[in-house]
This record gives sequence, structure tokens and C-alpha cells, in this order.
Amino acid sequence: MKEEYKTVGAWSWNDELLWKKIVKTDDNSCWAWTGSVGPFTNLMGARKNGVAQMTQSRRLLYRSVFNEDCEDIQIRQTCKNRYCMNPSHFDIKPNQRRFRMDGTERTTPVDQPEKPKLKQAKLKPVQEKWWLV
Ligand SMILES: [Zn+2]
Repeated sequence: MKEEYKTVGAWSWNDELLWKKIVKTDDNSCWAWTGSVGPFTNLMGARKNGVAQMTQSRRLLYRSVFNEDCEDIQIRQTCKNRYCMNPSHFDIKPNQRRFRMDGTERTTPVDQPEKPKLKQAKLKPVQEKWWLV
């Protein structure tokens, strides 16, 4: 796989392309997405277990920033802008649905969800690499 590809869990995608499609302004503003869009979200092509498909670009961005998968995490935007790509605006919650899209059961108990928080410390190295306006 080419160098600009990044893999986290079952997913791999062109990380350089992902960041190229984001219009980064300052840390507090919403960041625009210049790639594909669906009715409710931004989309980008990626591979899951080697199979090409479109996926939500904010989920790829989460994987890019935190180097961890988000299968059991719901990502919304605190700014209410569904097309915002600023990771500082991501609101992360455990997904309350018991089954994933592929039909497998989640391991996190629905009644005792772990609450992943946006880890600001983890943002630093990525900020240094990609945040440059
Ligand atoms: Zn925003």
C-alpha cells in the first residue's frame, strides 16, 4: 500500500487526500469539507477489510486524529453543523444501539457505556502535522 494510506482497525484510506479536502481555518471555526457529500454527512471513499466503499469522512478523520477505531462510537458536532470537519467540534458518545451496521453485537453493555472523551493531548501531534493553515 502506498505511503499516504493509513490503516486503523479494519479501515484504510488516503490520509493525505482526507486532509487536503478539509478547509482548515482557525481552531474555533467550523472547517469546511470540499469532498463528496450525502444528504446528512460528508463522504469519502475508503477500504474496510480491503473492500472499497464510501464512508462518513468525519469517522475517517476521527481515526486519523486518534489512531483508534470508532465502531462503537457516535460522532456528532457540538456546533450542530453536520458538515463540519473540525475535530475540536466533535462530540463523542458511545453508540447506544446494540447491533452494529454489519449485524454483529457490540461489546460495550448498553446500560453501562464507557464514555470516551475527546482527548486533547492526542490532538497535538496531528495538529503539528496537519493543522498548518
Ligand atoms: Zn464546527
